[in-house]
Amino acid sequence: MAARTVITWGDPRLKLNSADVGEWTPELETLVADLFDTAIAEEGLGVAAPQVGVNLNLAVIDLSCGQDPAQKIVLINPEIVREEGSQSSSEGCLSIPGIHEVLERPQHVWVKSRRPDGTWHEVEGEDLLARALCHEIDHLRGRLFVEYFGPVKRQVIQRKYQKQKKA
Ligand SMILES: [Zn+2]
Repeated sequence: MAARTVITWGDPRLKLNSADVGEWTPELETLVADLFDTAIAEEGLGVAAPQVGVNLNLAVIDLSCGQDPAQKIVLINPEIVREEGSQSSSEGCLSIPGIHEVLERPQHVWVKSRRPDGTWHEVEGEDLLARALCHEIDHLRGRLFVEYFGPVKRQVIQRKYQKQKKA
């Protein structure tokens, strides 16, 4: 198990549609463990496989940041099946370090996700967990949270990001 390098905004691999996970393998088990380690190392609440350059529909969330194993969530081929309400608060992304912007998200979501053994279960999340579920699933569709903003705002964010990267 080891943290992997997170690729950042501008890397074309972040824009790809990821492929569904097929048969579960020891390599995938290692990838899941590495993703949890990566989230902890980068102090993130979750990380998606495409962010470490693996374009598979796989992501992990751990709102406790390594403090509570019960909060570890593995998403395999996840899909949002229902959403309710809305919330507005600050969001960030390990692939866009230093940038936090207020973004509207559903307040409550229900996600269908596969287990390693091929069976399916539902992950339900409200508030911050709903935000994290939407954010990670977006990564699997090649979408970064800054892409929700219009071109003008996105340019402002991009300039801020470039400036920060140089600093
Ligand atoms: Zn992200």
